[in-house]
Amino acid sequence: SKKIRIGIAGYGNLGRGVESAVAQNADMELVGVFSRRPPASVSLLDASVPVYPWDDIENFRDAIDVLILCGGSRTDLPEQGPALARAFTTVDSFDTHARIPEYYAAVDAAAQAGGNVALISVGWDPGLFSLNRLFGEAILPEGATYTFWGKGLSQGHSDAVRRVPGVKGGVQYTVPVPQAVQRVRDGEQPVLSTREKHKRECFVVLAEGADQAQVRDAIVTMPDYFADYDTTVTFISEETLRREHNAMPHGGFVIRSGTTGTGNKQIMEYALALDSNPEFTSSVLVAYARAAYRLKQAGERGARSVFDVAPGLLSPKSAAELRKELL
Ligand code: NDP
Repeated sequence: SKKIRIGIAGYGNLGRGVESAVAQNADMELVGVFSRRPPASVSLLDASVPVYPWDDIENFRDAIDVLILCGGSRTDLPEQGPALARAFTTVDSFDTHARIPEYYAAVDAAAQAGGNVALISVGWDPGLFSLNRLFGEAILPEGATYTFWGKGLSQGHSDAVRRVPGVKGGVQYTVPVPQAVQRVRDGEQPVLSTREKHKRECFVVLAEGADQAQVRDAIVTMPDYFADYDTTVTFISEETLRREHNAMPHGGFVIRSGTTGTGNKQIMEYALALDSNPEFTSSVLVAYARAAYRLKQAGERGARSVFDVAPGLLSPKSAAELRKELL
C-alpha cells in the first residue's frame, strides 16, 4: 500500500532525528527537508534526500501527507506553526508549557481554515509525560503527581551559563534529588520545594583571565535559573567539554502516588532514560505523524494534542493485530 509521505520543516537536532526515525518506519517515506538556510549549507545523514528552500514549501502541498515541524519553540514555532498548518497536516513539539493555550488557538484557527489536522506539543514533555500525568490524575483522583527530570542536559540552562561573563563554554545537567524520589516512591506524598526536587550541575570552561570564584558566584546566584537550586560548578578544560559533554542525554519520571478504597497505597510510575533527547523526541514525532495522517484521512480538522489521539493510531499495526498481540 501507499507510504505516508513525510516532509521536515527545519533541520536542527530534531530535523536530523526525524530523518533517521522515518528510515526506521517501513510505512513512511521522506520527501524532503525545508530550511531557511541555503540548501547547499545543510548536510543530511542521507545525501540522496533533497533539501529545498523554505519559500518553495507551498509547492509541496500535494506531495506531502504530513509535515513535521522541527523549529525551535521560542521564536520559530509561534510563527511557523500557524503558517504551515494552513497548508499542511502538521506535527510539532512546541514545549513552552505556559504558552500552549494561545499556541493551540492560533494553530487550530489555521488548521480549521486550511482543512488540516495539526498535532501540537508532541514529544516526551510535553507529550508522553503529559499522558502519564493524565492517567495518574484520572485513575487515582486522591493523590499527588510528581514530575522529576534528568539526569539531563538542559539547553536553556546551558545557554544561561554560557552567557555569564568569563565563561568560554559549558553545559548544565538537571539531576533529580534521590532522597526526594525515594520519599515519593514510598508513598509519603511529600510537599517538595524546588530545591528539594532537583539539583543543577554545571561544567564550565573558564575564559582566559577570568576569576573562578566570580564566575561560580554569578552562576549560582542567577535568579530564575539557579538561585532556587543547589547548584554545583565544576571547572573543566575545553578538551574535556568536547570529549565528555557532547551528548544530549535526558529523561526522568512521572509518578502518581494515591490511595484507593480503604486506604490502600497505589503508586504509578513512568520513566524514560534517554541517551539522546532529540533522537527520542523525533521518534515520538514520527509515530504521531502516522496518527495525524489517519485523523486527516478520517475527515478530522483542527488542532489536537496527545490527549485527543487514540493510542492505536500511533502503531502501523491494525486494530485487530493490536488486540491479538498487545492487549
Ligand atoms: P535546533 O536549535 O537544533 O533547531 C531549531 C531550528 O534552528 C532548526 O529548525 C533550523 O531551522 C535552525 N538551525 C539548526 N541548526 C542551525 C545552524 N547551525 N545555524 C542556523 N540555524 C540552525 O533545536 P532542536 O532541534 O534541538 O529543538 C527544537 C525544539 O524542540 C526546541 O526548541 C524544543 O522546544 C523542542 N523540544 C521538545 C521536546 C518535547 O518533549 N516536547 C523535547 C526536546 C525538544 P532552519 O533549517 O530553517 O534553519
